Amino acid sequence: MSNCKIFAIANQKGGVAKTTTACNMGYALLEMGKKVMLVDFDPQANLSMCVGIERPDEVENAMPKLLSAALSEDEMPDVSAYIQMVNGMDIISSSLSLAENELNLRDEVGGQMILKNILDPLRDKYDYIIIDTNPYLGILTINALSACDEVIIPASPHLWSATGLTDLISTITKVKRKINKGISIKGILFTICDGNTKLFKHVTDLIQETYGEEIRIFESKIPRTTKQGEANYMSTSIFQHAPKSAAARAYANFAKEVVA
Ligand code: ADP
Ligand code: MG
Repeated sequence: MSNCKIFAIANQKGGVAKTTTACNMGYALLEMGKKVMLVDFDPQANLSMCVGIERPDEVENAMPKLLSAALSEDEMPDVSAYIQMVNGMDIISSSLSLAENELNLRDEVGGQMILKNILDPLRDKYDYIIIDTNPYLGILTINALSACDEVIIPASPHLWSATGLTDLISTITKVKRKINKGISIKGILFTICDGNTKLFKHVTDLIQETYGEEIRIFESKIPRTTKQGEANYMSTSIFQHAPKSAAARAYANFAKEVVA
């Protein structure tokens, strides 16, 4: 049996650092000597760009084509042909065409399980596979939840709203009941934290009270830093751009918590 863990980074809210977390967590695990693959499952292809693919639309063997192949062929395609190595990281990249797959996935029998079918054969090759998801609880995110073992929920205190994580958690519960019994929530990661504001204190206390009993909240909290913005802008991980920054330290600690 393989010991591979597949993580989905999910939160239907945009801008909470899902993609940033997927990228940095991947590189942090790589630095710990783990075998890692990233999976970009967002049509916006931000993760693909984050690791340094300048024009994801021009990558032929990427997730959209892989999904089409998996949907149309009797036999699974050779998934290895779709894995690129970019800046030391294995990744299956995405592009806007993934949005077109969405319709086909919805219509296909077993359409919720296609990503699982694609990733399961790769478990032997990796210690960790990290799926970045799009900010919408549709069929793409359902595929990611069906394919994963554990969900990491980035939450950004300054973007907190009254509805919070209710929809996401009830979707995960439904997925667990109906299609992926093995799924669990690994934890909530506070991202883009303005540590000394009243709002930060208020929202983190609220999340702790509301969810802390049943869901782990990671000790590591990712601070808001200009270095992280720069790293994203320059299409690299925080470890390559500013290895001594507070965000790099926080993401490294977070990765240790995940592995421990
Ligand atoms: P999501 O994938 O949830 O939409 P992103 O990872 O794309 O979120 O991040 C949203 C924005 O926040 C990006 O512009 C990114 O550069 C910025 N960001 C993420 N993490 C930090 C941080 N720790 N400090 C400052 N800016 C950040
Ligand atoms: Mg994103």
